Amino acid sequence: MSDLSVELTAPNGVKYTQPTGLFINNEWVKSRSREKITTINPTDETQITSVYSAGPEDVDIAVAAARKAFKDPSWRDISSTERGDLLYKLSQLIEQHKETLATIETWDNGKPYSVALNEDLAEAAGTIKYYAGYADKIHGQVIDTSPAKLAYTIREPVGVCGQIIPWNYPLAMAAWKLGPALCCGNTVVLKAAEQTPLSILYLANLIKEAGFPPGVVNILNGEGRKAGAAIAQHLGIDKIAFTGSTATGREIMKMASVNMKNITLETGGKSPLLVFDDADLDQAVKWAHIGIMSNMGQICTATSRVMVQEGVYDQFVSAFKEHVAKTSKVGNPFEDSTFQGPQVTKAQYDRVLSYIDSGKSEGATLVAGGEAYKDVGGKGFFIAPTIFTNVKDNMKIFREEVFGPFVVIVSFKTEEEAIDRANDTTYGLASALFTKDVVKAHRVARRLESGMVFINSSNDSDIRIPFGGVKMSGIGRELGEAGLSAYSSLKSVHCNLGNWL
Ligand code: ADP
Repeated sequence: MSDLSVELTAPNGVKYTQPTGLFINNEWVKSRSREKITTINPTDETQITSVYSAGPEDVDIAVAAARKAFKDPSWRDISSTERGDLLYKLSQLIEQHKETLATIETWDNGKPYSVALNEDLAEAAGTIKYYAGYADKIHGQVIDTSPAKLAYTIREPVGVCGQIIPWNYPLAMAAWKLGPALCCGNTVVLKAAEQTPLSILYLANLIKEAGFPPGVVNILNGEGRKAGAAIAQHLGIDKIAFTGSTATGREIMKMASVNMKNITLETGGKSPLLVFDDADLDQAVKWAHIGIMSNMGQICTATSRVMVQEGVYDQFVSAFKEHVAKTSKVGNPFEDSTFQGPQVTKAQYDRVLSYIDSGKSEGATLVAGGEAYKDVGGKGFFIAPTIFTNVKDNMKIFREEVFGPFVVIVSFKTEEEAIDRANDTTYGLASALFTKDVVKAHRVARRLESGMVFINSSNDSDIRIPFGGVKMSGIGRELGEAGLSAYSSLKSVHCNLGNWL
């Protein structure tokens, strides 16, 4: 075990034991190739530690463990109440360890500690608890046809689920996937993102402590193109659930076709936020800020295209600029006053800077930011919160997902025009709109092509409410009762009671 964990002290002084192996069958093991991933603190660019990185041969072992566990009576035949108890125990353990988990999240990902603790960890524990409650409430139906037939449905687990998660909300995304999968009785091979490999390994120990049988949850780190691709095309996996970029989602969909896996994809977005003339402008400004600048703009549902009706456009732009300057304090994520930490990696930092260059060269007007932010010790992947106006609908910065603290603001004249331009995108994840007119609010909400619409808010998702996109933003829904459909299949049983031949 000694070379499968390391004692670490985080920048905030928290000391803990960091597992570094692959978690298979409730045991820590090395990868067959002995390859490792080194993870970097995005705040100061120092190395945190290295963890084992899975290859296809490790995926094979994890899938075999998950398959065996799926068939094992200790998991297959436990009562739904016991499954709920295990999940509830896990949610309590996450709650008990939340300071350590939030510390790891902030260190590895760069998100403000207060956000990691109060939002991500609350979401992770809350999601597992929510699905703990559902475990013994999943049932089929009796469907009355005629006295000669008894027909009923049973909700069954899908089988072995491959789950590939992103780096922007590592623990919360893990919980969104583990909660419903385990609630429905599946077994899991989960791969974390190579940019943020640490917190998920700490969570693995809590899964074992909660009492889940060996092989029910297997957790791997590994590169997307190796371990991720091996999961997506594995013949021993029945379902693939993925959250990440649209480009990778398309790849995964292709690979998953090898055995027609059940798929759930939650991918990118370029979500519009419409502000009508009759909106509460102060609220619109504050929510628009939350909607794009939270989590360093690294949110799939970020409302990154702000569209403001011409009567209030100038007023909105100046109030928004002022609010960003006042609120988006960039700094060390372990400091309480920090709103915005670094981007997760150098690659993401470079990506945002390249969109800043694109906005400038395409002739948009830079209103704020537009450069790296160097005042946090001169190191780290910090970007000054960036606002562009005078943006044309055909510019890259209006059309493509930037995934950073980067917003474009445009004006519109009529409701019809706003809807058309909001929908003129390949994406369809979220939309937001601001108006005091309740009739207009619901009329526009129906016409926006997105899986979610926020009226008079942005990005205030809730674990009880289905989450997911249309168009190229994804397939299927997570969270809420709808999240159970993604992890169960319906078996119909026809029992002949009198149709004798
Ligand atoms: P980003 O481009 O923002 O890093 P990705 O969508 O590439 O996001 O990554 C999200 C998750 O998908 C990560 O866990 C990553 O390892 C995984 N991944 C990346 N490429 C592939 C791939 N070709 N096959 C399977 N998984 C992949």
